[in-house]
Amino acid sequence: MTWLDEGLAHGPLLGDGAMGTMLLRAGLKPGTSSELWNVERPDAVEAVHRAYVDAGARIITTNTFGGSPIALGRHGLGDRAAELNAAAVSLARRASDGKARVIGDVGPFGGFLEPYGDTTIEELETTLRTQIGALRDAGADGIVVETMVDPVELATAVRVAREHGEWPVFATFAFQRHVDGFRTLMGTTVEQAISAALMAGADAVGANCGTDLGLDDYLRLADALVGCADGRPVIVQPNAGTPHEADGRIVYLATPMDLADWALRAISAGVRILGGCCGTTPDHLRAMARILDALA
Ligand SMILES: [Zn+2]
Repeated sequence: MTWLDEGLAHGPLLGDGAMGTMLLRAGLKPGTSSELWNVERPDAVEAVHRAYVDAGARIITTNTFGGSPIALGRHGLGDRAAELNAAAVSLARRASDGKARVIGDVGPFGGFLEPYGDTTIEELETTLRTQIGALRDAGADGIVVETMVDPVELATAVRVAREHGEWPVFATFAFQRHVDGFRTLMGTTVEQAISAALMAGADAVGANCGTDLGLDDYLRLADALVGCADGRPVIVQPNAGTPHEADGRIVYLATPMDLADWALRAISAGVRILGGCCGTTPDHLRAMARILDALA
């Protein structure tokens, strides 16, 4: 039995909220590597983690979304993957203060696999082994493969994470609305996506982020996910409501109360692990934590 099974035996679990949008607020320049802040502005990264732990998050996610050598290579940092991933785990671990589990974040490598692009599965496996191996060596408690649109890429990442044995592996896709329900950018349906994640060996499956989704969409998505997760825990980490553009920037306007209301309904729909993606803040997570506490 893993810590995830043990935790879920007591009720739904709360993850954390956004890292990227919080670091942008702290002064990170758009388009630069947020992973570099794990060594250049460790105080800022640790402060975000600490705020989420204080808000009630019991699973926190490392600042390594773009931490594979291929993704870091776009910033000239490809050879620093091991260092930046290890630093990220240390920061999250210190901020967790023994109150939260630390899972290593693995995002998309940022290109397309053959035949749509020129990256081979072998190249993807190599870059993922470097990142996930570094996260594991640094002491991460599990892995979350997130914001994926290609089920082959997600399944490859889950399989590489599974090579390290029985630590929890979460797998979440970014969906968008479609005439027949929800699909990823690659056209993958919820059923196809979740089936690929489960077959690759994911312990918890679901959705995070997404394109132009409102909180009601995430509830309909939750129903669809629970319907095809084969009894495995479903995780949903919505953005703070529908994105809006203001002064050339994307803003998210859902309030902490909106997210608390959403959390209550998501739990009723069968979601077992909740958190937030773009635009969510410690205030949103604190409001969600109150709902979980009230249900406990
Ligand atoms: Zn997001």
